[in-house]
Amino acid sequence: MTRTVVLVTGPPCAGKSTYVAQRAQPGDLILDQDQLGPRTMGRRLRTVATMTTGTAWVIRCQPDPRQRARLANRIRATHHVHLHPGPQTLLARARTRPHPERHLAAIRDWLDREAHARRAVTAIQRTTTEQGLGWEHQQARAKALPKAWGQPCPYCGQPMLQGQDLDLDHAQPRALGGHHGPRRMAHAHCNRAAGSRLGAQLRRARRATTTQRHSRRW
Ligand SMILES: [Zn+2]
Repeated sequence: MTRTVVLVTGPPCAGKSTYVAQRAQPGDLILDQDQLGPRTMGRRLRTVATMTTGTAWVIRCQPDPRQRARLANRIRATHHVHLHPGPQTLLARARTRPHPERHLAAIRDWLDREAHARRAVTAIQRTTTEQGLGWEHQQARAKALPKAWGQPCPYCGQPMLQGQDLDLDHAQPRALGGHHGPRRMAHAHCNRAAGSRLGAQLRRARRATTTQRHSRRW
């Protein structure tokens, strides 16, 4: 028996439920946050994460691309389908539904949130370029990316999946002089979490040194 977990994301009226209804087989588990509510959904998602056989379909709106990748990782999704037919189609569909104003508001809210999340991602990418991860690094990352799919992340051990946000990471952190050393792929969020933990450690260490110097001087 194989384990298949398909995460289906996209804005309201993107056709997520229809997509799943057309493909699901009898006996498949279908989890739709709109139907279950966030609490039940959270509980059922933990079951999906530990499920070893069978097929599950997980339907979420999730406008933030980083949150989508995180969710895919958390439920150990084997596939991630993101449906987005474009704002015009979404709004046109909403107008044909009962209570169109409710759907229109939900779509606008989703589009706003996604745009906001994308601006945040762009800001992180800009900072990355400024930190010296320029064109060469991006080329190397593009080459390493397809080989990384299915491989375990060096931080969390979970598989790195197509559609997830993956970083080309310095095996020896740059903060510790690994700038020109070997590189490997890792989940972007695992890599960045490790980076900020290291940053905090280094800051604590620097503070400790400064305090020592002062106490010696006084
Ligand atoms: Zn990871």
